[in-house]
Amino acid sequence: MGKYVIAGNWKMNKPPAEAKALSEDIKPLGAGAACDVVLGVPFVDLQTALDATAGTKIGVAAQNCHWAASGAFTGEISAPMLKAMGVGYVIIGHSERRQYFGETDETVNKRVRAALDNGLTVILCVGEYLEQREQGITEEVVALQTKVALCGVSAEEMSRVIIAYEPVWAIGTGRTATAAQANEVCAAIRNVVKGLYNADVATALTVQYGGSMNAGNAAELLAQSDVDGGLIGGASLKAPDFATIVAAAK
Ligand code: PEP
Repeated sequence: MGKYVIAGNWKMNKPPAEAKALSEDIKPLGAGAACDVVLGVPFVDLQTALDATAGTKIGVAAQNCHWAASGAFTGEISAPMLKAMGVGYVIIGHSERRQYFGETDETVNKRVRAALDNGLTVILCVGEYLEQREQGITEEVVALQTKVALCGVSAEEMSRVIIAYEPVWAIGTGRTATAAQANEVCAAIRNVVKGLYNADVATALTVQYGGSMNAGNAAELLAQSDVDGGLIGGASLKAPDFATIVAAAK
């Protein structure tokens, strides 16, 4: 469907010296990869990752941005700041930000808007809690998250939006959605986007799966018809594992 994108989410790991080493280990992937490769690194590692991957096809992502351009928001980083550094991507609405930092669908939407207004590509995360899956409301939950997050986003801007389906119960737990579960929800998200925009936007959209994707299960997940890549946490911290996942995305 959409272009394959494999993105690492390093979360709050890797101080700059380690980030430099890991980025350099990953750098050769940029040359041969059949998919786009993105490194989602802590704010303090952005410059290091940009320097280490300069001149390659590898993109660099921040893990969040504020919706205001500047002002009295101690501790926050704005989308224009990221753009000015040369950062191309930003992960928005990760479940850890929703769980631990009070982000809501509404603030996710404001961040998405700010990122798009400043020329960034957004990796928008949506996903259900285990109780919601057990209640049979997974598709309603991700549909609502998707619709609110994309409020005010035009069809043209959707070329700079990637959606990552990340079931919360699968993140960092070692418990992966089955390939069929992942494909079913990725297809449902694509269908929501078709309803919001049109079939062309939905077909061109990259829908990633994320949640304990690793070197062992990536090929099966990525072979699904509606899974166009992955957002990878733990396994993105080990260059050989990340390389195996990138190689599986073709
Ligand atoms: C993530 O952080 O987005 C993620 C999917 O983590 P993990 O691969 O470790 O489950």
